[in-house]
Amino acid sequence: MSAPFCATLVYLLSGRMGKLMPKRLLRVIQWIGLVPAECVCTVCNRNFKVQLHSLSRVSDAQKALQLKFDQHKCANDGGKPPIESSGR
Ligand SMILES: [Zn+2]
Repeated sequence: MSAPFCATLVYLLSGRMGKLMPKRLLRVIQWIGLVPAECVCTVCNRNFKVQLHSLSRVSDAQKALQLKFDQHKCANDGGKPPIESSGR
């Protein structure tokens, strides 16, 4: 039951980020009902979790995940944490 919604979410996020980061996608790895509760970046494997108060609404969870995903910087190496300093 999660497949169509997951595809839609990935499509929306990839479309939004397509101009800047065409490679990375947000993959949902945990669902609570119809709400995406936990996701990972397909590039750096960074983990994103939705806070409990956002889990009550699907739209809030999507916004929270999209915001975190949008703000994070992918590390080139999957195992290393991203560098927050503004180098480029
Ligand atoms: Zn990333």
